[in-house]
Parts: sequence; C-alpha cells; structure tokens
Amino acid sequence: MRVSQQRLQNDLEAIGRFGRLEKGGYSRLAFTEPDRQARNWLQQQMRDIGLDVSIDALGNIRGRREGKQDLPPVLIGSHLDTVPEGGNYDGIIGVLAGLEVIRVLNEQTIKTERPIEVVNFSAEESSRFSVATLGSKAMAGKLAPESLQSLVDKEGCTLQQALHQCGYSGEPAAARIAPGQLHAFLELHIEQGPVLEAGNVDVGIVTAIAAATRFRVTIEGRADHSGNTPMGMRKDALAAASEIVLGVEQICGKEAGERTVGTVGYQHISPGAMNVVPGRVELGIDIRDVKMADKDVAVAKVIALMKGVAQRRDLKIDYQQLCNDQPVELSPKIIDCLQKNADQLHLSSLQMPSGAGHDAMNLVGLTDVGMIFVPSVDGVSHNVAEFSRMEDICRGSDLLLHTVLQLAQE
Ligand SMILES: [Zn+2]
Repeated sequence: MRVSQQRLQNDLEAIGRFGRLEKGGYSRLAFTEPDRQARNWLQQQMRDIGLDVSIDALGNIRGRREGKQDLPPVLIGSHLDTVPEGGNYDGIIGVLAGLEVIRVLNEQTIKTERPIEVVNFSAEESSRFSVATLGSKAMAGKLAPESLQSLVDKEGCTLQQALHQCGYSGEPAAARIAPGQLHAFLELHIEQGPVLEAGNVDVGIVTAIAAATRFRVTIEGRADHSGNTPMGMRKDALAAASEIVLGVEQICGKEAGERTVGTVGYQHISPGAMNVVPGRVELGIDIRDVKMADKDVAVAKVIALMKGVAQRRDLKIDYQQLCNDQPVELSPKIIDCLQKNADQLHLSSLQMPSGAGHDAMNLVGLTDVGMIFVPSVDGVSHNVAEFSRMEDICRGSDLLLHTVLQLAQE
C-alpha cells in the first residue's frame, strides 16, 4: 500500500496557486487573502474525500474520518501558511500528506477502529504576528487571551481583527483541547536543514524539538574620532560586540552540549560611520538545544562572557532575556513505531532532533507526538529556493500512512 505521487503532485500545484509571487516563491501569510484562499481550497478537498470539516475559534481546520468506534482520534497535519518569499513545502506537505493518507484508506476501503483527523494549524509562522504556532498553542491552552490584542502586525492589525476578518471568533479557550482527547499526533515536515540529504537518508524520525533562549543585548561604549583617539583610550562597542560574537560561537560549538547551537543574528551599529569609533551596538543572541541542562550551561557562560567583556573593556553591557523556552522530547512509543515501519518499508532512516520549532511541540503533554522529516535539497528553507523531491515526499508520506494506520487500529 503506497501513496500516489501523482495526486500529491496535483495538490502541491493546486495549493501553489495561492500566494505565488511573480519573481518566484510564495507569500501566504496567516489570515491574509492567499491564506484564506488556501483554507477554502483545503475545506473543499476535505469534503471531496468524505471528511467532516470543523473549524475552531483560532481557525484551525480539522477534517474527520470516522472510525468503527467513538474513540479519541489520531490527528495528522501541519500548516499551509508561509513566511514572506518562502517556499511551497514548509508545512504544506504535512497537510497534503494527511489528505493523501485518507484517500489511500478510502481507496482500499479500510475502516479503522479510531477516527483519523487531518489538521491545518493556523499561523504557524511568526512572520505576521511575531509569535509562532498560534493555532496549536491555542489548542494546547498556551495562548493567553491578551495575545489577541497585544499581537499586532506591521499594518497595526491585531490578531483579533485578523481572526474576525476570516470569520473566526478568536477566543483561545474555545480552541483548547484537553489531554486524552487525542490518541496521537503525527506531523510530516521538511527537514529545513542539510543532514538527511548529505547522508543520503530517506526519512528523519524526530526524537526531540529544540527550544531557544534569546537575548537582546545593548553595548554602550563611546563614539570618538577615529583619528585622534589612541587605541588604548577607546571604548569601542563594536570591538566588544565582536568578542561576544566569537565567544557565542566558541561556547555553543565547544563548551556546552553536543547539540547546542548559538547565533548572533543581527547587529545594529551606531553611529555607523567609517571615521567614528562605534559608540553603541545592539545585537541579538539566539541559543538553542534539545536538552535544557545543556542550554542552561551555554546561557550561563554567555552571560559570564558579557560581564567579563564589559569589565575588561570598561563599558556598559545590558541584556534583556526575550524568551527561555523548554525543549520537548517526542513520544518513545511513536519513535519506535516509526522506526519499525520505516524498516519494514525498506526506507533508510535517521533518528534526529529538530532544531526548529513546530506545531508538534505544543501538543506534547496532550498526547503522544511524533514527527517525520523529509530531506530538503541543499538544506534550504524559508527561502524561494526551498525544494524537496517528490520521491522523498512520497517516501515520508508512505511512512506516515503505515504508522497512522497502525495507531488508528489500536
Ligand atoms: Zn513549518
């Protein structure tokens, strides 16, 4: 029993009509017109394959295929929204694979014990409202009601307004589901990294999802004339920042955990002129790990580094911690189930952590959660060049199909 490459290809092309950019790539930001078109398309597809469609207060769309018994369902899916100038694979293939699983079961006239539901989570990308995975957060009871007003896009539109424009009530409590209401959740997603392709591996079986600790750092030195200020009498904020950049690389690469990663992703230098010693630098540090203890080690060392640099260079370094999130481990039961099915399907596989966040992480605690990764060509994602091969998408979808079937018969 296999998924149909042709049907998956057709769906990928169909969804690609919404938000396609003339210069290449896709912009389908949450709750914008292209996203609404994609949502309407999905609902129609769900009805066409016999699913009962329901939409919650945050606009999460669920299509249900009944089982023989009225038991908690197996939920599968991902998200259809994209970043600006993104690709047509991140999130999308997880929803389309869900539809394809249902089609195969229909075709084979297989009636499972448990219901199966396909989901499209709302606003997975943080591009519009600065916070990611809004729909799945609400489902898990992790979205504060204040967020409806406090989250605002670049045009000043609140999350509440955006939801109302789409006809959703927006009340987070109404979207919430209780532990025990789902039997399992499975998400198929592109890897968004280079590991699977480099190792020539068919599928990734995700073991854990990393979480970030982020700092906004301000370094106050002194802007001086670049000609008249001797080297020993400067308070160069950029030189201090440079020590921090290299320090973060050293700490996360060599002095913390095996999987720790650290990035200084931006720097704003002022005044930013060739003939002025930089007086002030703002920078952003992002540290991630799948193990909280290892992340804590890295974070403590980076804080000590900043204090040391400030003291030695006699300038002021302030930092604001923007988040300190907890990594999650995925269900050993589902990892085992995915591994056995991958072996049976003769797919080469790799158990690996995810460095990026996904809707799946919010459902940990509510039910058993698993994720399948499909190779990303050149590891590129959140970019118009994002691409995954149809054959790879089909391999991952086959693994999803067989695992869902197994879980739905329990
Ligand atoms: Zn995604």
